[in-house]
Parts: sequence; C-alpha cells; structure tokens
Amino acid sequence: MLITCPYCGPRDVIEFTYQGDGNRERPDPASQNFEAWNAYVYDRLNPAGDHNEIWQHSGGCRAHLRVVRNTLTHEISSVAFMRGGHISAARRKAEDKS
Ligand SMILES: [Zn+2]
Repeated sequence: MLITCPYCGPRDVIEFTYQGDGNRERPDPASQNFEAWNAYVYDRLNPAGDHNEIWQHSGGCRAHLRVVRNTLTHEISSVAFMRGGHISAARRKAEDKS
C-alpha cells in the first residue's frame, strides 16, 4: 500500500505509523460529561468502506496526515496534512504515474 505524503510524495506504508481513528472529537478538557469521555476513549467506528484515519509519516517528514482509506480495498482517496494542504485523489493519481 502506498500513501502519498503531501510533502514527500508516494511512499510505502512501512514509512507510516497509524495514529488512530480520524472521526473522534475530544470533549472539552474541563468537561465532566463521563459519557462523552467514555465514547471518546473507547468507541470506534468499524466501517466497511471509506474511513477517516490519522497517520504519521514517521519514517519521513514526520507530518501528521488525515487519510481517507477504503477498509475493503485499501484504496486511498484523500491525503491531507492535519492542518491544510489537501491533495485530491486525481492529483495523487497523476503524481503516481510520473
Ligand atoms: Zn512526508
């Protein structure tokens, strides 16, 4: 599986570290809503299809990336820096061919 880092380009998945589910939203740190904290810590989606994930390019630029990966085919449709720098699937395919 190749992941196209917006900074480094296409790289093998071995250079990346999975950082977790990209759908979670952390409750307010001052919140004492235990149900919200319990859901944040323990609840995970397990979709058959596109899934938002957080990966770190730990063997490269060390950037944290927001990746949309199909859990059935492992096809990656979107890679973006956690803060901006989105790369579309069309651009990624064009870069993979070069
Ligand atoms: Zn990188």
